[in-house]
Amino acid sequence: MSENKIPYKIYLSEDEMPKAWYNMRADMKNKPAPLVNPGTGQPMTAAELEGVFCSELVKQELDNDTAYYEIPEEIRSFYKMYRPSPLVRAYCLEEKLGTPAHIYYKFEGNNTSGSHKLNSAIAQAYYAKQQGLKGVTTETGAGQWGTALSMACAYLGLDCKVYMVKCSYEQKPFRREVMRTYGASVTPSPSMDTEVGRKILAEHPGTTGSLGCAISEAVEVAVTHPGYRYVLGSVLNQVLLHQSVIGLESKIAMDKYGIKPDIIIGCAGGGSNLGGLIAPFMGQKLRGEEDYRIIAVEPASCPSFTRGKFAYDFCDTGMICPLAKMYTLGSSFIPSPDHAGGLRFHGMSTILSQLYHDGYMEATSVKQTDVFQAAEAFARVEGILPAPESSHAILVAMQEALKCKETGEEKNILFGLTGTGYFDLVAYENYHNGVMPNNIPTDEDIAASLAKLPKV
Ligand SMILES: *Cc1c(COP(=O)(O)O)cnc(C)c1O
Repeated sequence: MSENKIPYKIYLSEDEMPKAWYNMRADMKNKPAPLVNPGTGQPMTAAELEGVFCSELVKQELDNDTAYYEIPEEIRSFYKMYRPSPLVRAYCLEEKLGTPAHIYYKFEGNNTSGSHKLNSAIAQAYYAKQQGLKGVTTETGAGQWGTALSMACAYLGLDCKVYMVKCSYEQKPFRREVMRTYGASVTPSPSMDTEVGRKILAEHPGTTGSLGCAISEAVEVAVTHPGYRYVLGSVLNQVLLHQSVIGLESKIAMDKYGIKPDIIIGCAGGGSNLGGLIAPFMGQKLRGEEDYRIIAVEPASCPSFTRGKFAYDFCDTGMICPLAKMYTLGSSFIPSPDHAGGLRFHGMSTILSQLYHDGYMEATSVKQTDVFQAAEAFARVEGILPAPESSHAILVAMQEALKCKETGEEKNILFGLTGTGYFDLVAYENYHNGVMPNNIPTDEDIAASLAKLPKV
């Protein structure tokens, strides 16, 4: 009966939108381990980090105690252009699966960048502007982050230099052109522009690049160009803070209808959307107020949580960035170039790594052909063409809903639908043509890259 009252889409009014981001670290008993300077072996100080990142973002990065950060008015106005994002009750998917479960998804693909990344891009660009900087540098893999950042920089009048993983640069020319439309310069990485790029090219001629290489290049350009700082679209604590807007909106919407999710599922690359989606729920869990089952879904071809090691490692291939304690496959790990599902980073957010290590969440890994099968099934009933990354969460949400069908349980399942897949159609094409491989690293592959972990 009450079910009929829940609309297909639960929206919030502008007044109901969150006015502050929530910092999960404030409620964690075991705080995430600090970033460490690889030269000294000591925790990175604010002064050291300020050479690379904007000052306000350094403060957010290091702040393990402040629970709420007010969202500046200008960022809230920008959010209002494309937020609140809808929380959708997947009635059609439920019917198709014949499940008694109630499935909800928070859809972050309703903006031109096609993903949740704009939530942090606008915040990071805003603080760069506040500091009087000329511009920012960054890396991008599949291109969603570079697109989001170029949109944010165009809005605020900042220069934006993007280093794009070479295989994506070649496979996704349209993504590149969207970034250029917003005024960004886009360079395939590794490039001859930087010392680290030239070194990587000399050691690995013909490499298709990796996120780790592109990060090294973008950091080098930031620290060698006055008036520039580096910004990162995932992994960092500050990014999870900004992405908490996803979970806060979801919780406000669900609370309006008295819905409590039993299971919360998100895909995990560097952990930003998952960290954002779960934030207020994890806060309750950490404070002992409520319990939720939380599942991170990662690709079998880049399984940081499920097959990596919880250790200090470099965030980049060039080994110039600080060390982070995280679940990692080793900074020299490069997923197979045939892997099309995104989520290619070798490590994971230190916050989520600590929470996983302490048993607050689960993780599972899935094969990419299964991911595309789920993507297609979802597209056919719910209408949205999902990003391959998001489809990792779709797959596991469907699996959990089918378990409910067996047991007859009416569980509430919430998952993050992080974006759309319009720029991933070559991957869809390979899937449809039956030529999508499942290249999963062997234990030897992983052991080889883990053997190179730095000694801390
Ligand atoms: C970047 C991206 C992801 C993965 O990044 P996280 O930081 O793990 O959230 C997932 N989905 C989409 C659509 C993305 O663009």
